[in-house]
Amino acid sequence: MISSKLRVLLIDKRRPTDTNKKEYQKSKCCGGLLAPDAQKMIAMLGLGLPGDIMVGPQLFTVRTIDLQNSLERYYQRFYINIDRRKFDSWLVSLVPGAVDLRLGCSFKSFARAGGYFELRFAQNDTEYVERARFLVGADGAFSMVRKLAFPNLPEPIKYTAVQEWFYLDQIQPYFTTLFDPEISDFYSWTIPKENMLLLGAAIPHRCDVNAKFNLLKNKLKNYGFRFGSAAKREGTLLLRPVNTNQICTGANGVALIGEAAGLISPSSAEGLSYAFKSALACAQSIAKAAPDFTDTYRRNAAGMFSNIRLKNLKSPFMYHPGLRKIIMSSGIMSMDVNRGTV
Ligand SMILES: Cc1cc2nc3c(=O)[nH]c(=O)nc-3n(C[C@H](O)[C@H](O)[C@H](O)COP(=O)(O)OP(=O)(O)OC[C@H]3O[C@@H](n4cnc5c(N)ncnc54)[C@H](O)[C@@H]3O)c2cc1C
Repeated sequence: MISSKLRVLLIDKRRPTDTNKKEYQKSKCCGGLLAPDAQKMIAMLGLGLPGDIMVGPQLFTVRTIDLQNSLERYYQRFYINIDRRKFDSWLVSLVPGAVDLRLGCSFKSFARAGGYFELRFAQNDTEYVERARFLVGADGAFSMVRKLAFPNLPEPIKYTAVQEWFYLDQIQPYFTTLFDPEISDFYSWTIPKENMLLLGAAIPHRCDVNAKFNLLKNKLKNYGFRFGSAAKREGTLLLRPVNTNQICTGANGVALIGEAAGLISPSSAEGLSYAFKSALACAQSIAKAAPDFTDTYRRNAAGMFSNIRLKNLKSPFMYHPGLRKIIMSSGIMSMDVNRGTV
């Protein structure tokens, strides 16, 4: 979009288009569920999802289990179940030819030099320097751009997200969300992906992740889950903005989008819609208001701040054990799921 007006350099250390096993392992650790807000953003960008990005089963139900209170409910939801690596690869394929795309390049640092940013990045063992008028950090939860440009700003709460993938004979067609204060004050999940089941948990930073994850697996035995050895284990940082002062869209020529800005749902960890929304708002601001685009971008992002504020207000109903117990016991908004009999 902006590449028709400006010269764009796009750097990413991953190569999602590369299908060799080593690169595949480096794909983003993600549940790969496209929520309705993310689907809407894809529609607003004039795009449709290629069929081979979807993985079965498609999911219409969230099975919610409160492990502490032994409560279980089903809620109707509309997700699209996707292969995240293929999704990222598709997004890269949409980058216009005019963009200088450098995959497999790690951004290292930047310095201000006159009216420019001097960007340092490396590919293999070679270091490169390029000059740019604006810098947009779309570098996720570990954002180096945010660390360097805004080191003193409050940060969202950090969790270690772990996901293990298991081959199972029988896989139920539910996205399961699991709540248990002994494991996390956030949540854990299972998501079926073809003949595999993905078990994930967001565990408070600096806790004993392995102990908590094993405890989760043990507790799930009571619910019919039998986990053997994992075919794949992955982990990353997950951010949870519990206050909008932890969100930073940037200033003075440096913008942050997606999780680098702290834009992610504090109630569900859904982040793809925010990544698309903020990217679009930022691109429109650059097109309209360069060189002072960061003020315009912040104003354009106001809706996302309000949305995250609302989600934080909703959070206690999901995460306060007492309130969750009342809501789940009441059965409000839940549905019956007939397992196997008509
Ligand atoms: C376990 C887990 C499950 C999730 N499940 C879902 C889900 O089901 N649905 C959903 O909507 N959201 C989910 N999310 C959130 C979602 O994955 C993120 O919010 C979303 O990917 C953020 O997009 P982004 O572009 O901001 O960052 P990312 O997707 O993290 O992309 C950042 C990019 O920056 C690159 N990068 C980072 N540092 C550098 C560097 N120094 N140099 C060069 N490149 C760099 C990375 O290679 C990467 O490609 C989940 C998150 C986690 C952790």
